[in-house]
Amino acid sequence: MTRSPDKYYQARVLDRRDVSRDLCILRIDPGGPFEYRAGQYATLGLEQGGVRTERPYSMASSPYEEALEFFVELVPKGGLTPSLFQLKSGGALLCRKVAKGRFLIDLRSGRTNHLLLSTVTGVAPFVSYVRTVYRDWNSGTSPMPGKHRFFCLQGASRSFEFGYREELERYGSEAPWFTYVPTVSRPWDEPHWSGETGRVEDLLRKYTEAWRLRPNETTAYLCGHPKMIENCRGILERAQWKKEAVLEEAYYQAAIKEAGGPA
Ligand SMILES: Cc1cc2nc3c(=O)[nH]c(=O)nc-3n(C[C@H](O)[C@H](O)[C@H](O)COP(=O)(O)OP(=O)(O)OC[C@H]3O[C@@H](n4cnc5c(N)ncnc54)[C@H](O)[C@@H]3O)c2cc1C
Repeated sequence: MTRSPDKYYQARVLDRRDVSRDLCILRIDPGGPFEYRAGQYATLGLEQGGVRTERPYSMASSPYEEALEFFVELVPKGGLTPSLFQLKSGGALLCRKVAKGRFLIDLRSGRTNHLLLSTVTGVAPFVSYVRTVYRDWNSGTSPMPGKHRFFCLQGASRSFEFGYREELERYGSEAPWFTYVPTVSRPWDEPHWSGETGRVEDLLRKYTEAWRLRPNETTAYLCGHPKMIENCRGILERAQWKKEAVLEEAYYQAAIKEAGGPA
């Protein structure tokens, strides 16, 4: 199928932070006006040998920022990420002009607690939410956060995978409306880790109790590994969360061999 070149901007990498060998944070100049809301995704692509490969990536940046920011995991033998990981500062890529997605902060239902559950790069839309609300809070002219409170539980195998830990912990210490708990599922690999341990789904009940989150007052957001999403959805449904109070953004379909679960 021939795609109209008008649908794409020629984007450019502004800078890149390598979080680990297979995780990086890319800041991108989209190459033209790009409107989006916190929680949406952009479609990034590369054209090689006349073949264009594109994939969706959630913005970690806030719409208040000029650059777009992405937290990307390398998928060995994947169609796009091995080439994406070759890009350095100044490198060119394609960005669809239109942002998409409905994984937005729920401001319509009247529920004022927001439970943000993620694995590794799945934290990206939550970083966008929190950067946006933080800016609103500091401006003093926005109705946000008002009564809204955000509780973020992020899972990873190892602590070096928390690409935004410092930033989120800083918001957590400054903002009374934000709480952040990172948890590692392989604590035996890092004896110096003194934080929470276990998978997100193992800790979900503990934290909904500790934070006193009730289904009628709380929207849950699940983002990242499909198995974490499935497991957390089941736990929340059994705890009386209604379907419409659980929003999901699965980054990919679980392969049968890894059906055992996420970090
Ligand atoms: C709405 C949306 C937002 C997304 N946002 C992000 C984001 O912010 N950051 C990010 O890194 N990715 C994100 N993804 C995933 C991203 O779109 C790609 O699927 C991913 O980067 C792999 O692309 P690839 O072409 O290298 O691999 P592919 O050729 O697409 O996939 C190869 C195989 O690996 C599996 N796979 C894909 N991703 C993973 C993974 N992370 N771990 C293990 N197996 C995987 C696929 O199911 C497939 O079987 C998002 C996906 C969606 C739908």
